[in-house]
Amino acid sequence: MMLKILGNNGPYPAPGGACSGYLLSSDSGNTRLLIDCGTGVLNRLLAEGALDTLDAVLLSHLHYDHMSDMLPMQYALQFNPRPKPLPVYAPEAPEAVRALLEAPCFDLWPAEDLTIGEMRVAFTPARHPVPTNAIAVECDGERFVFTGDSNQDALVELFCEGASLLLADCGLSAADHSFTAPHYSARLCGELAKSAHAKRLLLTHLNPKYAPQALLEEAREAYPNAELAELGEVYYI
Ligand SMILES: [Zn+2]
Ligand SMILES: [Zn+2]
Repeated sequence: MMLKILGNNGPYPAPGGACSGYLLSSDSGNTRLLIDCGTGVLNRLLAEGALDTLDAVLLSHLHYDHMSDMLPMQYALQFNPRPKPLPVYAPEAPEAVRALLEAPCFDLWPAEDLTIGEMRVAFTPARHPVPTNAIAVECDGERFVFTGDSNQDALVELFCEGASLLLADCGLSAADHSFTAPHYSARLCGELAKSAHAKRLLLTHLNPKYAPQALLEEAREAYPNAELAELGEVYYI
């Protein structure tokens, strides 16, 4: 698979940056998913020419930094209609936010395990203030896992086991983290990747208030090969 980072910030974008958004393609290029669609993702998706070729959008949860660009995407699809509505898989709550996705251009579904083209997609609940899923995609003999937004959670940790590439929510520094926080810390992302035997770790949901290099160093205390998910970069899984 090929993963392109269309957004790596949260809960707001860095200057010139973008919030959560990941374009995942199969090796053949015949299956393409967009995972999350936060602030600043749509323009990058359009720059890829990918709106026409997407098979589905998977939203980890309905916080704005993960879905706000779905709103202007409706306009883009009105002016560039697809033969069929674009399938969108998302949690069912908060209902008021989900209602914003009830548009003719979208085919809205609950987040349940399914096969999309060549990809097998699985969801598991994460630990966050609103219903949120970690997402795993298996394809081409590899397993990609995205934690969504989460703090430490036994189910999420099991779900990450053996990931070929783990994309982890690094929303907090260790100093700002607590057991009741909505996010993992950078250090905990490193520990998660280590205990789950992940082959590769990318840190995302980078809060612009932190220096990315400081977060990276924290994660590397537990997982020496940790990397930052770099905006615009492509990772082969
Ligand atoms: Zn977030
Ligand atoms: Zn969130």
